[in-house]
Amino acid sequence: MKRLKSTALIYTLAAALFLSGCASQGPGSVPAQTGKEEGSSPEDENTKEEETGPVYYYDEEYAAEEGWPWTDYSVFRSMDPALEISEKDNFYAAVNKDWLTTTPLPDGYGSWDALAEQQVKVKTSLMDLIEDRSVSAPDLDMARAYYDLFMDWEGRNEQGLEPLKEIIGPLQEAETLEEMSEYICSYDTILAGIQPLTFYVSTDLEDSEWNTVYLGPGPLLLDDPGYYRQMDDGDYAYQPIYTEAAAGILQRLGYSPKDAERAVANCFYFEWLISESMMSVEESYAPDAIERMNNHVTLEEIREAEGDFPAAEVLEAAGMGKSDRYILLEPEWLEAMADIYSLDYMEEIRDYMIVNDIITYMTLLDREAYDTYYQTINSINEIDGSLDDKEAAYNAMDKYMNLVLAQVYFHNFGDEESKKEITDLIDKIVAYYRTMLEGEDFLSEKTVDRAVEKLDALRVQAAYPEEDYDFGDASILPPSQGGTLMQAMHTIFEVNLNSELEMINQKTDPDEWSFPSHRVNAAYDSSQNSICITAAILGGSYYHKDMTPEELYGGIGTIIGHEISHAFDTSGALYDKDGCYKNWWEEEDYTAFRKRADDLISYFDEIYPNNWTKCSGELVDTEAIADLCGVKCMLAMARDIEDFDYDLFFKSYAANWRSLYTSNIQYFAASQDSHPLNYLRVNVILQQFDEFYDTYGITEGDGMYLAPEDRLVIW
Ligand SMILES: [Zn+2]
Repeated sequence: MKRLKSTALIYTLAAALFLSGCASQGPGSVPAQTGKEEGSSPEDENTKEEETGPVYYYDEEYAAEEGWPWTDYSVFRSMDPALEISEKDNFYAAVNKDWLTTTPLPDGYGSWDALAEQQVKVKTSLMDLIEDRSVSAPDLDMARAYYDLFMDWEGRNEQGLEPLKEIIGPLQEAETLEEMSEYICSYDTILAGIQPLTFYVSTDLEDSEWNTVYLGPGPLLLDDPGYYRQMDDGDYAYQPIYTEAAAGILQRLGYSPKDAERAVANCFYFEWLISESMMSVEESYAPDAIERMNNHVTLEEIREAEGDFPAAEVLEAAGMGKSDRYILLEPEWLEAMADIYSLDYMEEIRDYMIVNDIITYMTLLDREAYDTYYQTINSINEIDGSLDDKEAAYNAMDKYMNLVLAQVYFHNFGDEESKKEITDLIDKIVAYYRTMLEGEDFLSEKTVDRAVEKLDALRVQAAYPEEDYDFGDASILPPSQGGTLMQAMHTIFEVNLNSELEMINQKTDPDEWSFPSHRVNAAYDSSQNSICITAAILGGSYYHKDMTPEELYGGIGTIIGHEISHAFDTSGALYDKDGCYKNWWEEEDYTAFRKRADDLISYFDEIYPNNWTKCSGELVDTEAIADLCGVKCMLAMARDIEDFDYDLFFKSYAANWRSLYTSNIQYFAASQDSHPLNYLRVNVILQQFDEFYDTYGITEGDGMYLAPEDRLVIW
């Protein structure tokens, strides 16, 4: 039940964020065809007439003017089955046409793709095991107890909103700033409440041998601070997560409709105000992001900068006051908090915490709160139907006790043979990668040598760890023994906090796994210089025993190549072989590398997937570079295979990125996900390679064509 490592330094193959939906409504960007009116309630949304035929969101004239290379047919029901589309014009759409035009979005899902298909298989195996009460083991029993608590609607309904009242009650009673500070610093709040700050223990940015305490801004309901900058202070009225979800619960807590509205307006106002001093999602992926976040400070310096805001005091109360190292992620934010944290804004800050607690816990309270939450989120994301309760229970376990699930998964489904095969394949790919780096003629020998050194130092985590996780003596009481879901949450939070406290002033564990094995994903951890290919992704169309080399390379092969490439993308390039934030480049080489990356950024900046959204090169460059180099590496390996079937390779690759999403999810993916939209992960990437042109006879005038001098090369 240890917390996952801080995500700041971990780059994954794909974001899971958008599967469950986003909390915010696009800024007037949703196309009129959805029939949605601003401020419509979830009920209205559910009774709206079912659209029957396909919905064509695309304005081809606009497309031609803006010069979009391709239409994004991943938008659900945007592709006409009668459309004839050539591999030469839109490879992604041509390869996936049947799938795109016949696959439904499952109930409760706003997006669906090949990774999700495989994840559902993994979920089903785990859920079957949890429900098979003839099998018992400590980790499995812990997961089962949580599952039973989640499904115990009788118990949850009986408790109603009581567990929430316990968290926010003392805050509601605070009358002075001192009393509010006392609340923020109390152990119960540190464990379970939302505070206007976050802190965690993780690998130090500059010295990966040691752990450090990180301090940064608290969460925002609409996630991206940049999003608030497009709004004015009254725009909460169009955000259902405030007006319908939070306001509804506030009224159940006894607020009058007017007071409830005031509380959500206050919360929004504080978030709007503080967001200005915070880094937007896009900024957090910009080239200077790490430099901006790398601020080593002392606890005394935090105290001097904080004004009346008790940031240092929270760290002390949490048991983190004696750390030798602290990193203040966003100094401008602390400066702003020092200004805002006063009696003048006490109501706003208090309501921020209350409303955020409500949204955080809604799915763990009674049925009414749970249903209201999902109705709201589904209406925002244009999601039909609702998630099965069992799947929602699984998702909660995945969120709060992911390492327990990971361990249950590898204990029961870990396959030694696959682990061995995948380890061998990774070794083989690393060897090819070395040749690729050594062949680089745009870099000096010195830089190439250091790049190769970094590759040689790469740590590999294949399938699952050799050792079990340490959950201490944590135990979760099932409903049959009088346990409640909120008690379980308390236990989980306490185990998490204690495991972080144990890390303070300690050396990092270089073999600590960076990603849980039951998630269908893969990751690179810059602080460890490690890749992780999970056991869960070793299935479906990514990897199976009877694959041809072409399918293998187009599947798990490019994924492994992708993760290795993160060591050498625009972000990875800033860390040395030991995972320290340290420049290892000759200056001229770095300038040449940046020039190549900047060309890629400009290329993505000019792509408009449709007329309500655009791509951001700065947001997606690291992932696009990883995709590009991953495919390049596989094509290098392909040269050593006689009669390699390039058509099968490219099609396997394109099929693995098949995906569908609602238009609103697409909007958020384009503006907040550091991965390019899937159709671009296929089309932009493949159009850079000669083998692709040769295989399909693509020439000038074809949609997939890019003049040789305009092609993107990074490594
Ligand atoms: Zn990645």
